[in-house]
Amino acid sequence: MDTIGLPMELRDRFESERARFLALLEPVLADLAADPMRFARADKLVALPEDYEAADLVLLKPLGIAVSRDDHRLRAGAAAALAAMARAATAEGHTLVAASTYRSYAYQETVYARWVRELGQERADRVSARPGRSQHQLGTVLDFAPIDNAFATTGAGLWVAANAARFGFSLSYPRGLESLTGYDWESWHWRWLGVPAATLQRECFGDVQHWLILFLEAWTGD
Ligand SMILES: [Zn+2]
Repeated sequence: MDTIGLPMELRDRFESERARFLALLEPVLADLAADPMRFARADKLVALPEDYEAADLVLLKPLGIAVSRDDHRLRAGAAAALAAMARAATAEGHTLVAASTYRSYAYQETVYARWVRELGQERADRVSARPGRSQHQLGTVLDFAPIDNAFATTGAGLWVAANAARFGFSLSYPRGLESLTGYDWESWHWRWLGVPAATLQRECFGDVQHWLILFLEAWTGD
């Protein structure tokens, strides 16, 4: 754990609340064993295999999820969780719209190249991932509409921020953690980890996905 640079306050909590921490960790380790790619790192330092494509991608629209394009897909577990979350939001008067979902390595190449043309490389790296380093290649990540931090103050955005964890979703790039994640705040970009991991993240990792993923990577000894 020391080698991944976890903040001291988090390590102190593991010690002081060890039983609680281990109880929350146990179902996450079961999910990790069953589906390692759900917890894979894809960030500034670690890339996914170029040819990685999830085997269980499903279309979102047939599940009743509002989409910006008919071909939006996610992995089956993430799609089912999103469908349940969208239904709960609708029941409270908010429509969640999936605006960007699974992206292949090849598609990310074109996305990143476009940002570099528009902004130059340094600025592009703050807002877009290089191919292989996008969480969208995992098939468990989506952007809600609008893909803009205006989302954070919409009814839908406020609802997602308050409720996403109970459906297993986690905010990847929080406000104020730009130097840690390497990305500007993205209130619209959510990653599905499952309810046990989202709960562990919130209770034991300061609600910071980056620390949870690094911890699980160290745990598995990669
Ligand atoms: Zn995104």
